[in-house]
Amino acid sequence: MTRPLRLDPDRLFPAEARTRAIARNLYAGVKDLPIVSPHGHTDPAWFAYNEPFADPATLLIVPDHYLFRMLYSQGVRLEDLGIPTRDGAPVESDPREIWRRFAAHYHLFRGTPSRMWCDWVFAEVFGLDVRLTSDTADLYFDTIDAALKTDAFRPRALFERFGIEVIATTESPTDELLHHQAIRDSGWSGRVVTTYRPDPVMDPEAEGFAANVERFGELAGEDVSTLAGYLRAHENRRAFFRAHGATATDHGHLTAGTCMLDRTYFEEVYAKALAGEASTIEAEYFRCAMLMEMARMSLDDGMVMQIHPGVHRGHNPWLQARFGPNMGADIPVPTNYVTALKALLDRYGNDPRLSVILFTLDEDSYSRELAPLAGHYPALKLGPPWWFNDSPEGMRRFRERVTETAGFYNTVGFNDDTRAFLSIPARHDVARRMDCAFLARLVAEHRLEEDEAHELAADLAYNLAKAAYKL
Ligand SMILES: [Zn+2]
Repeated sequence: MTRPLRLDPDRLFPAEARTRAIARNLYAGVKDLPIVSPHGHTDPAWFAYNEPFADPATLLIVPDHYLFRMLYSQGVRLEDLGIPTRDGAPVESDPREIWRRFAAHYHLFRGTPSRMWCDWVFAEVFGLDVRLTSDTADLYFDTIDAALKTDAFRPRALFERFGIEVIATTESPTDELLHHQAIRDSGWSGRVVTTYRPDPVMDPEAEGFAANVERFGELAGEDVSTLAGYLRAHENRRAFFRAHGATATDHGHLTAGTCMLDRTYFEEVYAKALAGEASTIEAEYFRCAMLMEMARMSLDDGMVMQIHPGVHRGHNPWLQARFGPNMGADIPVPTNYVTALKALLDRYGNDPRLSVILFTLDEDSYSRELAPLAGHYPALKLGPPWWFNDSPEGMRRFRERVTETAGFYNTVGFNDDTRAFLSIPARHDVARRMDCAFLARLVAEHRLEEDEAHELAADLAYNLAKAAYKL
């Protein structure tokens, strides 16, 4: 038996009629605004070469750790979902079988944002009108597979259909940005920019650190055997990234720590890091000192700094060894900002030319630390709810916990932060609906005028992201 797939036009709006009517009205004013996607992980090669996407499983399941981690948590082997192993041990290679397994477990996503995003993709992108179950798995596979073979479903056509005004990808300084160059050379009008993410050459504990730094030095044309040359290499690569549209850097350290190191000691720690001899604490000192250097460079070149701290990556060593990083085994840890950022704020916090966007997976820090910090320091702003908190409840908690201290204008609009390209409009739509729902409550309680709520809805959906990321 098939059951209908319906996206209710009032989804996520307040259940109470008067507030719901206000939310509807606000949403009508923002639902069709273009998408500004200032931080994410789509593959620039898609837009550079515009090849058709492969098949439903390879496009929608295999690359999406949000999806396969849930099946894994219920005992499904990642091999059976086609996730490649590091040692080349064989995994399921039939996309239809992978799709059927996913369909058989789709009920696991009830109540999760993944369910909302997927249903949106099925209904809005592919026009499916029955729900995904084992019974409809083949119908889904055939419908999506056939669509993907048509020109209307190639990356650039979808980019345009989704109303994307600009999208940022994220690359390592050791990336030559050939795909971004190819996009520019192609004459296509879609705007795809890069982001400078130096973790592989800034974190002594990153895999292959010394080799990464060597390659980094070659690309920059600098002698990176000294700290001075290494820092010049950053300045050089940042300029190269800016020439490919980058307006921001991104830093995914375990902590938000910053510190000033005595120059001689800084040089000593760098030398140890290159030799693979830095201790855990020395590696942390190096990252902390390098965030200060990144802030200094940002003041010179105007790049916005994003800090995404507080994730214990690869928490499951067995799984990491078998499948590699980004396999759904990344777990949040408590994160401190007040003391961690002190050194950076002492030196740069009062300078409105610097813009540091802070993210957290530790919601306890919203009202205790982040909103008071961003509500004071001119150099700080708050990024939107991220990763596990990129959800309706996460968005509601974010607005509830930060608005009264930091207001709306110390926040920066929405990030989809995803590699799941087809779900990007769904994610922005959830954020727009949740912000309209929050604003509607303020209007209904006579805490905000409705005309101001309309302005705010547009700022949260569109204007703030463009302004904060200088796009
Ligand atoms: Zn990201």
